[in-house]
Amino acid sequence: MSDFWQRALVYPAIVLLTSLLLWAIVSPLVAALFFAVCITFILISHLRNLSDFQHWLEAPDSSVPDGSGLWEDAFSRLNKMTRKHKKEREQHSAALSQMEQATSALPEGVVILDESDRIEWCNTLAEQHFGLDGVRDIGQQITYLARQPEFVKYLAKREFGEPLVLWGARQDELILSIKLISYGKSKRLLISSDITQRERIETMRRDFVANVSHELRTPLTVVNGFVETMHDMPHLENDMARRALNLMGDQTIRMESLVNDLLTLSRLENDQNPVREEEVDVEVLMREIFAEGEALSQGKHRLLLLLDSHEKLWASSDELRSAFLNLLTNAIRYTPEGGEIQMKWASQEEGLVFSVHDSGIGIAPHHIPRLTERFYRVDRSRSRETGGTGLGLAIVKHIAMRHHAHLNVVSEEGKGSTFSLVFTAKRAV
Ligand code: ADP
Repeated sequence: MSDFWQRALVYPAIVLLTSLLLWAIVSPLVAALFFAVCITFILISHLRNLSDFQHWLEAPDSSVPDGSGLWEDAFSRLNKMTRKHKKEREQHSAALSQMEQATSALPEGVVILDESDRIEWCNTLAEQHFGLDGVRDIGQQITYLARQPEFVKYLAKREFGEPLVLWGARQDELILSIKLISYGKSKRLLISSDITQRERIETMRRDFVANVSHELRTPLTVVNGFVETMHDMPHLENDMARRALNLMGDQTIRMESLVNDLLTLSRLENDQNPVREEEVDVEVLMREIFAEGEALSQGKHRLLLLLDSHEKLWASSDELRSAFLNLLTNAIRYTPEGGEIQMKWASQEEGLVFSVHDSGIGIAPHHIPRLTERFYRVDRSRSRETGGTGLGLAIVKHIAMRHHAHLNVVSEEGKGSTFSLVFTAKRAV
């Protein structure tokens, strides 16, 4: 028999035996009375313990009753269990408050969203960024509180590769960079960082470059005009002066192309200047550019035009012309006489591809990732000699970005290079 039953039955057994003894020695009435009194006493004791237990259930944070008899052991176990749970609860809440403190100290706003974009939790910075209340707004749809159309569109798209730059979030002057990360089954983490200062500096830099370039344009045109006029003067016999004028002419032309490229870059970088998309007949455009390339090469290279696709493209015609021409002129400038250059338009698995392949000087692998940086040149003197500004590939990269295309560079030093612009098939007309 288990310990419980032994202990449970010991008192009733004693009462029963004593009652039987009284029955035999005294009288059945006394025995029955004794039995009834004892059983009532045992019952009252159980009821009292049960009532203590019920009281404790109503306020489980109070201490567990001591109990008597059989209940003592049960209450003692319950006491141990509740103490253990309390300790675990304290540990959990300490861990939770530590996590909350850590996320509050993060330099970024964090919001946990459920599968329907309802707020489950947010830290203090997120409250500031989106004007939320971390208590009142729990369970609210985030798009009810942050209503900017581009934000709503970003959430709905559910492609969170690129962060979203949100202008005028909450207050007009606030600029946020927003990133969504999926985790768990269908939960999402919304991370926001304040990039107001960074964007302001970047805008200042852009404006400064654009303004300086703009201001330089007029004086340069004037100087260039005078240099040309003086150069053509019939009485200018001094060789030295003529050479100086030639040099001045070359340098002003160089400065003019620099200023023009800087202005082009500023225009491309300007968010207020969206791509003016139209139907571009790439074949026609490439034939025109090819003719310009032939004029530039002056028969020094073997130029080939391969039109493997007849697809037209939704794009800005001017921007495509600028990007394609930059790549072709680079190929001509960096390919020695007698080399071959292929300009190609093809429809491939990855999309629609414009490429320029040359058998020129090629580029060492460590330079390739940096080619699209402004003024990055592998060989400064060669770039200058051939009239380069160091901005051509930066312009190409911006144009590619504006058309959601990407620029691929494959090159081997001494053998040649292939520069490709890959457009998604969605851009085909
Ligand atoms: P640049 O005006 O100097 O040509 P770009 O931005 O057009 O400036 O190109 C950056 C650098 O990349 C160039 O200076 C050159 O070193 C390298 N480059 C570009 N195109 C080619 C090419 N087809 N072959 C070899 N090097 C190239």
